[in-house]
Amino acid sequence: TSKIRIGIAGYGNLGRGVQAAIAKNPDMELVGVYTRRDPQDLQLASPAPRFAIADLQQHTGQIDVLILCGGSKSDLPEQGPKYAALYNTVDSFDTHARIPEYFETVDAPAKAAGKTALISAGWDPGMFSINRVYGEALLPDGETYTFWGRGLSQGHSDAVRRVPGVAAGVQYTIPSQEAIDRVRAGERPALGTREKHQRECFVVLEDGADAEAVREAIVTMEHYFDQYDTTVEFIDEQTLAAEHSAMPHGGFVIRSGNTSDAQKQVIEYSLALGSNPEFTSSVLVAYARAVHRMNQAGITGAQTVYDVAPGLLSPKSAAQLRAELL
Ligand code: NDP
Repeated sequence: TSKIRIGIAGYGNLGRGVQAAIAKNPDMELVGVYTRRDPQDLQLASPAPRFAIADLQQHTGQIDVLILCGGSKSDLPEQGPKYAALYNTVDSFDTHARIPEYFETVDAPAKAAGKTALISAGWDPGMFSINRVYGEALLPDGETYTFWGRGLSQGHSDAVRRVPGVAAGVQYTIPSQEAIDRVRAGERPALGTREKHQRECFVVLEDGADAEAVREAIVTMEHYFDQYDTTVEFIDEQTLAAEHSAMPHGGFVIRSGNTSDAQKQVIEYSLALGSNPEFTSSVLVAYARAVHRMNQAGITGAQTVYDVAPGLLSPKSAAQLRAELL
């Protein structure tokens, strides 16, 4: 059988992660990386051919699934509908509040073209979403808890870097161990924002900046930090580069419920990720396999992870899965 031909649209963290993930999946091959920048200028030499993104208009016969690796804020709202009219697609759109609206904008062009467009894959949304549904369906009398971290938050790191006097910095989200322990024990506690997560910042100051003023500006920042217990540690540039350039993340989805007055049940799914983008990309690649199969089976239009049967993610056949994993 021939390999599933994958294209990558957008060569950032996820684009590089998809390239790495395809190397781990022998039933797939990377046929091209497409970028809005000059394809010759991409710093990391990619073993795959590099093209200008405009070439996607002509390459429809060469790609089975196009993985959209653009940002959720401004790239995917434009690229999602556009490429769903030309290719089967997978993306990681993660602006939770706008997912229903994004689904509609992708569904219409995909359906019209007979293409399959899987939106919002990854881990949250993505694997965490699936585990929330399993939890709710299996334990209807219960509570769902999501804890994030320990992980680097891109949005909060950006917010720290915008504070006057900050030369560079990162922010980690830390789940509260005490809160997790209570949830695991089946207490079903009502937890406030401050009780669930702490925030930890590592900051490099600009020359002559007032550390106390910077700390105060960070911990009191509305929405980002004021509702949390936040620590700020000042470090030098070398330490930042040596100890804080990875992108770890992860977290827990826990459903705690009662099947009768006497019986508590707790379900937990947890992720400890060395690299958030590389893991997210691995999920996108598995969903690309499912999308290829769904399209061949005549299932078209926009889809979410809820619409994909688990067996479709596996390179193994249904018969193999029945024999080996059931
Ligand atoms: P990046 O900022 O690394 O890349 C986004 C786009 O920016 C790329 O597709 C690329 O497009 C362009 N780009 C990348 N590097 C440069 C550069 N040096 N100069 C100019 N342009 C550049 O984002 P990520 O790959 O880290 O994340 C993409 C999205 O993935 C996020 O917005 C987030 O919403 C989502 N995500 C979802 C997760 C989930 O669980 N569902 C988890 C993690 C992320 P081009 O090549 O065309 O220039």
